[in-house]
Amino acid sequence: MITKKGIIIAIDGPAGAGKSTTAKLLAERLNYKYIDTGAMYRAVTLFALRNSIEPTDIEKLVELVKGMKFSFENNGSILFVNSENVSDAIRSPQVSDRVSEFSKIAEIREILVQKQREIGADGGIVMEGRDITTAVFPDAELKIFLTADLDIRAYRRLIELKNKGLNINLNDVRGNLETRDRIDSSREINPLMVTEDSIVIDTTQMTIEEQVNFIYNKAQEIIRSFNQNQSHRN
Ligand code: C5P
Repeated sequence: MITKKGIIIAIDGPAGAGKSTTAKLLAERLNYKYIDTGAMYRAVTLFALRNSIEPTDIEKLVELVKGMKFSFENNGSILFVNSENVSDAIRSPQVSDRVSEFSKIAEIREILVQKQREIGADGGIVMEGRDITTAVFPDAELKIFLTADLDIRAYRRLIELKNKGLNINLNDVRGNLETRDRIDSSREINPLMVTEDSIVIDTTQMTIEEQVNFIYNKAQEIIRSFNQNQSHRN
């Protein structure tokens, strides 16, 4: 795929594997845009819960999602929906507990995948989620599958939530990650899976810095040939 501003880096993986932190730092180093697609599914869940819309009420959900205007600020770390900063609200345990139920709905995915393709169309982007390498950008120039042992993922997520002031225990966090992984990997539409051409990185024994360096070096190789191709075309 030839893009204008740079390549597309797609990162998938289970919950708590460090995708967001890694993708954000990587985007900063490359001067690329960073998009956390999980935040969009979380925002849909937040709005559905607020409006007491159940996952079975597809018509109302479609109307709701169509009316949501997503805008990422501060290099992707803040999400506004219809001018409301939802960044903290979408991380609540209530949203985490229900998000996989809403994100498995085909009609919701169709709308969000379309929006994500529009956001990333020009390239120069690091996008992370569950179906970026498989469905959103299957032709991405660099595809990464980030994973780690469940226990370490739960522990990392616990620290993250505690730092945000949430009173939560390790068992609950672990249970939530396990349930979401199961639903996200077994759903009918765009399940979480590893593509043949993805680079799988197990971060269990790695620091964030090591993860970022590894992907950054891979990205630089690809960007070099991307730039050469671009200059030949001009
Ligand atoms: O990335 P995060 O853990 O915040 O994602 C929350 C949830 O959103 C996931 O558990 C999954 O159900 C859903 N999701 C998805 N497809 C994506 C990104 C997230 O289904 N591309």
